[in-house]
Amino acid sequence: MASEKKAASRASAAKASTNGKVVAAEPTFYETVESNFERAAACVDYPRGLLDQIKVCNSVYMVRFPVRIGNDIQVFTGWRVQHSHHRLPTKGGIRYADHVSEDEVMALAALMTYKCAIVDVPFGGAKGGIKFNPKNYTEEQIERITRRYTMELIRRNCIGPAVDVPAPDYGTGPREMAWIADTYQAVSTGQIDSLACVTGKPLTQGGINGRTQATGRGLYFGVREALSTVEDAKLFGLTPGLDGKRVIVQGLGNVGYWAAKNLQQGGAVIVGIAEYEGGIFDRNGLDVDEVFNHRKSTGSILNFKNAKNYKNGNALLEVECDILVPAALENQINASNAANIKTRMIAEGANGPVSAGAEQILLKRGIHIIPDAYLNAGGVTVSYFEWLKNLSHVRFGRLGKRADESSYTRIVAAVESLTGKSFSELERKVLVHGADEADYVDSGLEETMIEAYRQVKYAYHSNRKVKDLRTASFVVAIDKVAKSYMELGIFP
Ligand code: NAD
Repeated sequence: MASEKKAASRASAAKASTNGKVVAAEPTFYETVESNFERAAACVDYPRGLLDQIKVCNSVYMVRFPVRIGNDIQVFTGWRVQHSHHRLPTKGGIRYADHVSEDEVMALAALMTYKCAIVDVPFGGAKGGIKFNPKNYTEEQIERITRRYTMELIRRNCIGPAVDVPAPDYGTGPREMAWIADTYQAVSTGQIDSLACVTGKPLTQGGINGRTQATGRGLYFGVREALSTVEDAKLFGLTPGLDGKRVIVQGLGNVGYWAAKNLQQGGAVIVGIAEYEGGIFDRNGLDVDEVFNHRKSTGSILNFKNAKNYKNGNALLEVECDILVPAALENQINASNAANIKTRMIAEGANGPVSAGAEQILLKRGIHIIPDAYLNAGGVTVSYFEWLKNLSHVRFGRLGKRADESSYTRIVAAVESLTGKSFSELERKVLVHGADEADYVDSGLEETMIEAYRQVKYAYHSNRKVKDLRTASFVVAIDKVAKSYMELGIFP
């Protein structure tokens, strides 16, 4: 409870006068996660001690290590936080950014516990980070920093297929995961499962088809499910279906790009995209791949054909749309801009993009949020599939694909002989296709996102104390983690 008091006192004492303007300071990211937890804790009936055990971070490691940069030695600071050991291994991404802090990594680790529980992925939550901006370093220097950080994790038994399994996050991707796997394997001779020490690896290094796009694609499945019926869509004041829905996306990185691309393919119109250098808007729609290539070739999202430029990308968050997808960083929608947001639905691609204070303002204005702990869980879901693939040492579909295709071919032949009609080459190819790894991963992701939304929706409608989807998702998570502790007999 001390931390709630601290959060409350921060929030109230936080009115500071700057240049004559009264500015309400925000709770920290970790305080926001804790206050979200407490909102849900008030809706369930578990002993306070058990709730405290679920809420706290079990282990917080901070490491400082030297790396040669040019002719000098630079000291880097990194963290690995394991929030909950109720399931093992713990799991969570690694972030590289100059704003990484202990508070941020703790918040992200806690979110991972709730996220894994919501989508029934059997891991405890963890997160890691190094405080530096990779844009200021060469590829070779980033490799050295990554490998040295991995060694620090190995020394502390903070990485391993059964212990703690990192993945990509902001500022990292398959390249960094390959370096981590290679460093771990170099010191774990004879461990047959060593590749499962990290997920999000390139396909050639033990990765899985579909991991790169998983978080954005999962977001698409979640938003589609939230708008699948008249009844569901009514919560957001929208008509059902994605067709023609106007979407603004913040951040064209891994999550933002794949979310925007999938929403566009699903029928939505991407009217705005914001990056740190500015934003672009076109009411007739922006082609996501064209924007991506334009940014790649010019170095900026700005000056895209027919689009209006916004020098301040954050101003685009306040432009009217149906669905706003913050997919960059935390606290982007806060007390300073919440009153100006003009959307019907906020679909959280990033972790913690809406501060606790902003959420109350938005809910009062009838703007509902599909929360991060559910909506961006596609990444960890497919990471789970990658971990399973590494442990089983066989790609999904390898054993059954041809057998399935033989049966489908026989069925097609029987249908042709019974009807006297024959299918075209293309029709036959589609009909007899046996599922391969990409099909299984996509099917598992779709099923996971739909089933988890139904559980969150059930908690929202069945518990009268629950007033919003974030609280509903935390209720689902607390329920599952609490049961796993109770099964151990630790709590009555
Ligand atoms: P990324 O580094 O690939 O992309 C982030 C993008 O946001 C970059 O293009 C960056 O330039 C942009 N950006 C930064 N500040 C911005 C600002 N103020 N306005 C507009 N754009 C800005 O990172 P990512 O992996 O896509 O992660 C984004 C968010 O999603 C993070 O909160 C992360 O924790 C969360 N997340 C990522 C994954 C994953 O699988 N990568 C999974 C779950 C959650």
